[in-house]
Amino acid sequence: MTKGIWVFVEHRENLIKKVVFETLSEARKIADQIEDELCAVLIGKSNDSLVESLSEYGVDKIYLAENDVLKTYTTDGFTNVMSDLIRKYEPRALLIGCTINGRDLAAQVAQRLATGLLTDCTGIEVIDSQLVFTRPIYAGKATVKASCKTNPVIATIRPNTFAAVQNKKDPKIVKTVTDCGNIRQVVIDAVRQVSQRPELTEANVVVTGGRGIKGPENFKLLEELADVLGGAVGASRASVDAGWAPHSMQVGQTGKTVSPTLYIACGVSGAIQHFAGMSSSKCIFAINNDPEANIFKIADYGIVGDLFEVVPLLTEEFKKLKA
Ligand code: FAD
Repeated sequence: MTKGIWVFVEHRENLIKKVVFETLSEARKIADQIEDELCAVLIGKSNDSLVESLSEYGVDKIYLAENDVLKTYTTDGFTNVMSDLIRKYEPRALLIGCTINGRDLAAQVAQRLATGLLTDCTGIEVIDSQLVFTRPIYAGKATVKASCKTNPVIATIRPNTFAAVQNKKDPKIVKTVTDCGNIRQVVIDAVRQVSQRPELTEANVVVTGGRGIKGPENFKLLEELADVLGGAVGASRASVDAGWAPHSMQVGQTGKTVSPTLYIACGVSGAIQHFAGMSSSKCIFAINNDPEANIFKIADYGIVGDLFEVVPLLTEEFKKLKA
């Protein structure tokens, strides 16, 4: 019998990604409904402080796989370890944050175990004792509910979808023997871009610049607004293709998917491919000088105006509110 809802604990520089706590909080509710246990899977090295943080989020059990070679994420290392753990303990489900590494790991493990994978999920519920996941389809224009007949079901969870709710427990620690298998990738160095801003996919506020921003130098305006709101800066594909922003900032179908509380689109027309990456934002606010721009059809609030006038005014007003 399969047992346990597992959540993969993605971490970097001794900090657990926010999406992990969000996923654990939602998974806790599901585990309670079906009277199953909630388990965290922590793969890495020297994880004591991480174990402590996990115990704040209602975890019953932590599978701990420690090894020097697991210090940084590699596709082979993490896939080998996770697949072995699943074969050994046979969980009902594995939930993974829909991040760059999370998407990679989920696809690899699903392929390795020949099991079903549901990506970018925004809801989990129990129907007839089965886990059913909600996923946006057609660039966010519709949603579908899906389940998998294979065990375990693997699902990636969109960041910022669920609230992280603290719920202290004393989890059982299961130290596992880790044969990391053959690892073909070698991480030689990780170069960190120095930024005080939150990661785009995890940010509560995203300020995005489209072609209307007219040049790379003008992103400074958006950065100032983002900074006063504690947000991240994104870009449309038109801005990225023009070389004004790196691809890592692109929001949309071929970029990142964001789900912030507030999405501020500046000089973005609102193409379907852009919408695909930001449609689940809780509040969309658009600034565009064309009253007919498509973005106003999907925005909750909008200002028809020149972004070069509106954005600095907004920044000033938010600064006053903070003072
Ligand atoms: P535009 O469509 O040129 O819009 C610029 C807007 O700025 C206009 O609405 C204009 O009125 C406004 N503006 C101009 N000046 C000002 C001003 N001073 N003040 C205020 N407003 C002003 N796009 C993405 O964004 N992300 C993706 O991931 C993506 N993937 C794609 C994948 C495929 C397969 C394809 C075919 C396309 C994809 N695209 C993607 C491209 C998409 O179709 C659009 O071309 C793109 O989103 C347009 O970017 P934009 O809104 O910045 O530019």
